[in-house]
Amino acid sequence: MSLWRRPAQLPATLFVMAVALGAGVTAQSTGKKAVGASASVSDDAEFARLVKGWTTRPEFSSPLVDHLPKVAGIPSPKDILGHHIGEPKKLTYYADILKYYRALAAATPRVKVTSIGKSNEGRDLVVVFVGGDESIRNLESYRKYLAQLADPRKITAARAAEIVAKAKPIYHLSGGLHSGEVGPSEMLMELAYRVATEDSTLVRQIRDNVIVSITPVADPDGRDRNVDWYYKYGINETEGRATGAGVPYWGKYVFHDDNRDINYSQIEMRALLDWYLQWHPPIMHDLHQAQTLLYTFSGQAPQNPNLDPILFAELPMMANFEMAQLSKYGMPGVWTHGYVDMWSPGYLAFMSSNHNGMIRMYEIQGFSGANTQKMRLGNPNAPPAAGGRGGPSAASGQAPGPDAAAITAGRSNQAQREWFRPWPATGEFDWSLRNNTNYGETGVLTALQYTAAFPKVILENFYQKSRNSVDTGRKETVAGYLIPGGQRDATRVAVLVNMLRMQGIEVGRSTGEVKLKEGTFPAGSYVVKRDQPYARLAKILLEKQVFPADPNLRTYDDASWTMGLMSHTDVKEIADKAVLDVAVEPVAEVKLAGTVTGAGSTVAIPHYGSNNMVTLRFRLKDLKVQAAEKEFKQGDITFPAGSFIVSGDLAKVRSAIEALGLTAVALPAAPSVPMHDLDVPRVAMYSTWGNTQDVGWVRYAFDTFEIPFDLIYKDRVRQGNLKSAYDVIVIAHQSGGGKRLVFDIESRGTPIAYKKSEAFKYLGMYGESDDITGGMGIEGVAELDKFVKAGGVLVTLGAASFFPAEFGLTPKVDAARTSAQFYSPGAIIDAEILQPEHPIFYGYDKKLVPVRYANGPLLSVQTGANPFGDAPPAGPPPIPQGVLMRYPGGDDHVLSGLMRGANEIRNRRRSSIRPRTRGA
Ligand SMILES: [Zn+2]
Repeated sequence: MSLWRRPAQLPATLFVMAVALGAGVTAQSTGKKAVGASASVSDDAEFARLVKGWTTRPEFSSPLVDHLPKVAGIPSPKDILGHHIGEPKKLTYYADILKYYRALAAATPRVKVTSIGKSNEGRDLVVVFVGGDESIRNLESYRKYLAQLADPRKITAARAAEIVAKAKPIYHLSGGLHSGEVGPSEMLMELAYRVATEDSTLVRQIRDNVIVSITPVADPDGRDRNVDWYYKYGINETEGRATGAGVPYWGKYVFHDDNRDINYSQIEMRALLDWYLQWHPPIMHDLHQAQTLLYTFSGQAPQNPNLDPILFAELPMMANFEMAQLSKYGMPGVWTHGYVDMWSPGYLAFMSSNHNGMIRMYEIQGFSGANTQKMRLGNPNAPPAAGGRGGPSAASGQAPGPDAAAITAGRSNQAQREWFRPWPATGEFDWSLRNNTNYGETGVLTALQYTAAFPKVILENFYQKSRNSVDTGRKETVAGYLIPGGQRDATRVAVLVNMLRMQGIEVGRSTGEVKLKEGTFPAGSYVVKRDQPYARLAKILLEKQVFPADPNLRTYDDASWTMGLMSHTDVKEIADKAVLDVAVEPVAEVKLAGTVTGAGSTVAIPHYGSNNMVTLRFRLKDLKVQAAEKEFKQGDITFPAGSFIVSGDLAKVRSAIEALGLTAVALPAAPSVPMHDLDVPRVAMYSTWGNTQDVGWVRYAFDTFEIPFDLIYKDRVRQGNLKSAYDVIVIAHQSGGGKRLVFDIESRGTPIAYKKSEAFKYLGMYGESDDITGGMGIEGVAELDKFVKAGGVLVTLGAASFFPAEFGLTPKVDAARTSAQFYSPGAIIDAEILQPEHPIFYGYDKKLVPVRYANGPLLSVQTGANPFGDAPPAGPPPIPQGVLMRYPGGDDHVLSGLMRGANEIRNRRRSSIRPRTRGA
């Protein structure tokens, strides 16, 4: 039963007026005119008939998408794919998506496909441009105009005005970042065709005034795997996920976290950033599908205050325009607030806001497959459920704090009328892939309509935001940042500077000593001046994150990311305006050349905490490498405990050290300090089938640092004899506590295989199983227990640390949970090293080190006085043997970000995890 109704059909004239909004165009009709002189155009009658049938209710469509031109010589999606977009039970593999765009580009001068790189699994990454003939012919000129507006230091205001008069905004659309959100990548093909061919006033105006660019599928590897899974399992489902399991992998390493990849570690995300910095689209719009029926992001609180005020006004302006237009077309369920906030800069499209453009996001109702499914939306008269993540609760009038599950269940909330949701969808109805296409395409055409109506305003704002960013260095308190030269470990400094450079932030290297109010720094210090176009981004990345004081404040995502703290690198915030005039030479990229000085047959490599030390060990895996257990001196150099001592094959040792940017000294003989062998352990990493993403991040780190390992699953653990094959087993955080880790995906009797076959060639990657359900079970626990008792090392991270405590592998260790009042969506806090001489801490030179804490177990070790209790005894607790590190806890030890209830973790044992996987 539905409570909404479609308004009376809009008169054509009203619709045309809406189309002409703001651009002074007097539309003659909505009729489709010929495309070019020779092409013959008519509407595709079959399309209209089929699409009407696939749309489950009339109000789930609009006058913008209920028709499609048929143009001789220009292929519509059906001409290449064999079906119209949105046909039930049809999803398109990536190769066919590319085939379509390439066929379209071959047939019309209005479309161009460019390559921007390769995915992890070797698929072509592309950007598709769509626009008027002239725009596409002169793309390079338009690219240059935007590049000029992006750097206002190089042009006068008068010149900027001239450029704005000639330039066109690029509006970038991206689908398929999340592989289970299948609809937008289908819809974008129809959109490209429509923008290239339709001759309505609206589309003509878009074509004339805007250049549309498209990422067809942001994670193409995951797309193909998800489509395989759909055709193998999902297509036979009628309601929900009847198989009880989703595809175990999307991309090579991560699922939703490709939208939290703040440092662009994943090559697909990096390729888009590199493209962005060439093309400077003032708007980047990511198309997701997780909410009911269309959520259009408006940049709600908490907002990152470093970003330009213009941006925070632009966002709701566009979102409200879309909400008004879609309401006018009679489409219910469009809303703009009470979901994602504007705090974390790690979302993929945030690359635009971070560089003075505009991030936009949709969440369109949809499923991970293409089946039509029944939806039931809650009672509109029910009290507000937890559905509004983020923002001051008082201001939004919502209950704070849902988690991902509540968001999913929070459909009841999304049936609620709110000021930001004036016409919610309610009741029970069928939802189809075509409905998803209709909402997404109508929304996007409306956003393009707005951009086409105000192209010069968009460009002026882009220029002005860039201009304002350049001015921040002189106007704001923070004039710059300085990364002092001569830091103990140069490799971490290099990583940090290169990450800034990757984002287009200018960094200079001081040519002489730097004297500022904040201190005197040696020549060779790195200087980030805030009189540059990306000055705002530099501050966002380098400063300490401080939230507004609001006891109820929640944030949707990560709370902190301060780069100096996270890389254990010294970064100084500089208020002295003199920093802007420090003489520097620009840094393109820091490339450290490692050195080996001295002469002799033994090489000593001081351990200053470089991550490259572990890479070095594995590159020299065939050589005997030892660690000095005590500090020693050689000439002027102090070698801290943990320094490597290696002899034999000096040429190989030297070349490895040089390539990794490390420093070393050749000695005539080994130092006379106690040493032990640094063995090369045989490592396994355990993964459940139900939660592979956080394991994926650890795999990514191991791969990056060249640490070899076997990825093992339940079947291998149950097989036993683990100690004969492995010295170390790593169990990364994988959501939930010990039980989830052990029992994983519930078995419903029917095996669910994840295996490669002729028909499904993208399944079975990164591991295979005849049945991914059931978990390792108690049998698996027994094998891991045997492994530990036989001397194996079991390393658990994050919530996986509940497992040994809960299943009796560590009888004296308890794992507790924080209280319901505790809240920490990823703060950076102090951890205290208790046994600095332990090899785990080789390379650290301070007792307190910054770590990230989101949630997860608080470990305690039973002492004689308190053998069973979880609560620590009164007074300062004794430090039991074997505890290497703990949280000092308390507000004083919160270094960046948000932690409410910081006393709860006082003196508890180190454990740190990433935030929960979230569905946006
Ligand atoms: Zn998503």
